[in-house]
Amino acid sequence: MKTQTRCPNMNHGKTNAPVKFCPNCGEVLNAAVRVRCDEDKHKHLRKSRISFCTDCGKSLALK
Ligand SMILES: [Zn+2]
Ligand SMILES: [Zn+2]
Repeated sequence: MKTQTRCPNMNHGKTNAPVKFCPNCGEVLNAAVRVRCDEDKHKHLRKSRISFCTDCGKSLALK
């Protein structure tokens, strides 16, 4: 078993995570995922209280 981070996101345990970056900690989950994102998506994610963009790993938390 791999050393787990403190991140509660279930995708960390998956070999084929559906997203590139973890929305909780911003760590790379699946580098093979290729997606595009834009500010509209970031806005939407922010509203859903997602801390990191699952596509580009950008931190969405407000200062
Ligand atoms: Zn995580
Ligand atoms: Zn993004």
